[in-house]
Amino acid sequence: MKIAIIGGGIGGLATALALSQSSHEITVFERSAGIREIGAGVQISPNASRLLHSLGLGQAFSEIAVHPHRVVFRRWEDDSILRMADIDDSFVAQHQLPLANVARNDLVEILGNAVAQQTNVTLKFSTYVVGAEPGESSSAVRFSDGTSQSFDIVIGADGIHSVIRPCVGGLDKPRFSGSAAYRALVPRKFVEDLPIDVTNRMGPDRHVVSYFIGRNRSHLNLVCISPEDSWETESWTEQGTVEDLYARFEGWSPELLSLLARVEEPVFRWALYDREPLDQWGIGTTTLLGDACHPMLPFMAQGSCQAIEDAVVLARCLSDESISDAALALRRYENARQGRTAQVQTSSLMNRDLFHMLDGQEQKDRDMFFSLTPPGMSILDWVFEYDALTVAI
Ligand SMILES: Cc1cc2nc3c(=O)[nH]c(=O)nc-3n(C[C@H](O)[C@H](O)[C@H](O)COP(=O)(O)OP(=O)(O)OC[C@H]3O[C@@H](n4cnc5c(N)ncnc54)[C@H](O)[C@@H]3O)c2cc1C
Repeated sequence: MKIAIIGGGIGGLATALALSQSSHEITVFERSAGIREIGAGVQISPNASRLLHSLGLGQAFSEIAVHPHRVVFRRWEDDSILRMADIDDSFVAQHQLPLANVARNDLVEILGNAVAQQTNVTLKFSTYVVGAEPGESSSAVRFSDGTSQSFDIVIGADGIHSVIRPCVGGLDKPRFSGSAAYRALVPRKFVEDLPIDVTNRMGPDRHVVSYFIGRNRSHLNLVCISPEDSWETESWTEQGTVEDLYARFEGWSPELLSLLARVEEPVFRWALYDREPLDQWGIGTTTLLGDACHPMLPFMAQGSCQAIEDAVVLARCLSDESISDAALALRRYENARQGRTAQVQTSSLMNRDLFHMLDGQEQKDRDMFFSLTPPGMSILDWVFEYDALTVAI
C-alpha cells in the first residue's frame, strides 16, 4: 500500500519504522528542513521502551537513556520527601525494563536514523501539508504549493495543531491550560552530587520535574510548570529567561533555587494545551496518530509514549497478514486505541489538580495519602503494563 505520514516527530517516525516492516511504500512529509527537535527531555516508560526494543532500537536506545534509581515527590517549600518509589530489580522484573529519561533530540535522531535505513520509506522535508481529502478507497494530501497527491492511506501525525484533524471532523480548538512549561538544562558538572532521581517538587499552582538526560548523563533537565494568564504570542513555544524562572518560583526550597542558579540559557517557554478526547479519529482511509488526535498535558509524561503505542498498534492493523480493507483496518486501530488514550489524557488533567493543590487541608490529605501508599509504583501499573504488541485489535 502507498501510505503518507504527515509529520516526522516522534509519532510519525515511530509509525514509519513500524510500518516499514510490512511491504508498504511509505512517505513521511515533514515541514522542517530536517529531523529537528527542541524541548530538552522526555521520560519514556516501559510500555513504550519495550516497543522501541521490538522495533530493533534496543541497543541505540540504551546508549541514549538515563535510568533513574528512584521517583521522589517533594514539598515545594522545604524539599521534604512526600513519597519515594525505587526503580529497582523488582520494578524491572515486573515491567521488563526500567524507566528511561532521554534527550528528545537523541530519541528523534535514533528513530530518524533507523527510518532512513528502510528502503521502503522516503522522508520528504521542507514540505508543508495544508490538509487531506479522505476517501473510501484512497485519500489525497494537499500541499502548500497548491499540488496534491493520492495515497491508499493518509496518517496525520502532525501534532497538536494538526491540519489533518479538521479534515476528519475534529473541528475543536486546542484548550489553553492556564500554565506554561519552562524547560531548562543544568550541565552535569554543576550537579555531580545529585542522586539519579526523577524528582517532582509540588507546590501551589506549580510544580517542577527534574531528571538527568543525555548521552553520558550530560544534563539535568528541569520542567517548571507555572500559571500564565494568557498566551498572546502566535508561537506556542518561545524563549524565556532564568529571571522569569526565579520570579515564578520565589520562596521555593533553597535546593530548587540553587538548581535554578545553575541553569544554562536558553530557557524555553511552552504554552501547555490539550484537547478533550476525540470521538472520531478518521474518515475512510485517513486517520490520526499521537498529539494530532490525543494531545494531553505532560503531567503523566505519556504523550510520546502514547504516540509510540499508536504506531505499533496501527502497524499491526496494517500488517501484510491482517490487512484486507484499508478503511476497516484503520477503524480497528482507532477502536483499539481510543479508550486507552482517553484514559491517559484524563489522568494527565487530573494530575494537574493533584500536583498543584494550595497549602491547606486538602493538600495535607494528599500528602498523607502519598505517604501511606506502598513504595512500589503500583499506582501506575495500568500505564506501564499495557502491551501494544498483544492488545486485542
Ligand atoms: C513540557 C512537556 C513535557 C513533556 N514530557 C513528556 C514526557 O516526559 N514523556 C512523554 O512521553 N511525552 C512528553 N511530552 C509530550 C510529547 O512531547 C508529545 O506528546 C509528543 O512530542 C507528540 O509527538 P507527535 O509526533 O505526535 O507530535 P509532534 O512532536 O508535535 O510532531 C509533529 C510533527 O509534525 C510536523 N508538522 C506539523 N504540522 C505539519 C504540516 N502542516 N506539514 C508537515 N509537517 C507538519 C512538525 O514539524 C513535527 O515534526 C511532553 C510535552 C511537553 C510540552
